[in-house]
Amino acid sequence: MKRDERWEGVYSFEDSPFIMEILTELRDERTCPIPFRKGLVKLGRYMAYEITKTMEVEKVPIKTPLEETTGTVVKDRRNVVIITVLRAAIPLMEGLIKVLDHARVGIVSASRGKAPKFGIEMKYVKVPQIKPEDTVIIADPMIATGSTLIRVLEEVRKYGKAKRYVIVGVLAAPEGISRIKEAHPEVEMFVAAIDRELNDHGYILPGLGDAGDRAFGAPIKL
Ligand code: URA
Repeated sequence: MKRDERWEGVYSFEDSPFIMEILTELRDERTCPIPFRKGLVKLGRYMAYEITKTMEVEKVPIKTPLEETTGTVVKDRRNVVIITVLRAAIPLMEGLIKVLDHARVGIVSASRGKAPKFGIEMKYVKVPQIKPEDTVIIADPMIATGSTLIRVLEEVRKYGKAKRYVIVGVLAAPEGISRIKEAHPEVEMFVAAIDRELNDHGYILPGLGDAGDRAFGAPIKL
């Protein structure tokens, strides 16, 4: 995990060969939905494990069958709310919750309109009460323009003030990170990699395409 010097609290995993290998499979256009979803689950699990290294821990007395000793409890792991942004975050959340297994889960839909406005529609919002000791983890694989996440963060804050707000994604574009940090400076971000730029349609380059379509197949319009 390495901190990106361009922003405060933004980390990528470009120094982790195993995470980069999973990302390579996700980027590859030949990867079909089953391995694509499995890759997102794996990334969620390993990224959650890395995030626990940034959490508050507590030393506790315990007894082994042989003697008394001191153990470790990751205190913050007990106070996590994962917000799943439909639809591509579903497999990412499945991986995150394997490590953050005490998490309460919120589900929100936030779909992006067409270029050039990229307006955000939130039709479904189910979020639990957020408490001062909570770490809110917003799972969204693709941090592109940042508009969805800015809107989701505004919405989530209505449910209570948390100790930390953390975005977990697969890829981010520099434009999106800058916009989110401008709107919500205290938000931390953990992404597998930060890519070069966005194209005119709001897709990340080199990217991996439409994460929702690649995980679940392209929907048709009736
Ligand atoms: N959403 C995606 O699924 N892919 C992108 O490149 C940008 C937004």
